[in-house]
Amino acid sequence: MKRLQKKPFKVFKPEKIFVFGWVFLAVILISSLFVYRPWCSMFCPFGLVGWFFEKISIFKIKVNYETCIACESCAKSCPSTAMESILKREKTIVDCYSSATCLDACPTGSISFGTGKRDLPPAGKYDGKKKKE
Ligand code: SF4
Ligand code: SF4
Repeated sequence: MKRLQKKPFKVFKPEKIFVFGWVFLAVILISSLFVYRPWCSMFCPFGLVGWFFEKISIFKIKVNYETCIACESCAKSCPSTAMESILKREKTIVDCYSSATCLDACPTGSISFGTGKRDLPPAGKYDGKKKKE
């Protein structure tokens, strides 16, 4: 106890934390070349909690694919890549922050925020536009 009082930071071994910090930073930087936002998608605890609650939430962002004209304004306005994931039929949809930005951006009013299952978009509807660009 006396020794700890004299050297209170000895238990933390700052030199090891320093090395770990640099290694961790290098891992994040290198993985960012291959993974979109590696910190947010793999390490951030807030992101994990948000992702989990979005999955179990009874309220979801939904698209009416009958009236949608595939302009992708919603995906461009989305602060995350959630709407892009939805339109591209990705298996893992990244965090939707329920910002409602996509609702305002949609020119046809095809997006709603409500209960019920989120339908899959028709296959290929949002792929053709990308190929033309
Ligand atoms: S509500 Fe916000 S975060 Fe969710 S899909 Fe729409 S724009 Fe993206
Ligand atoms: S903004 Fe509206 S019309 Fe355009 S792709 Fe999104 S849902 Fe469809």
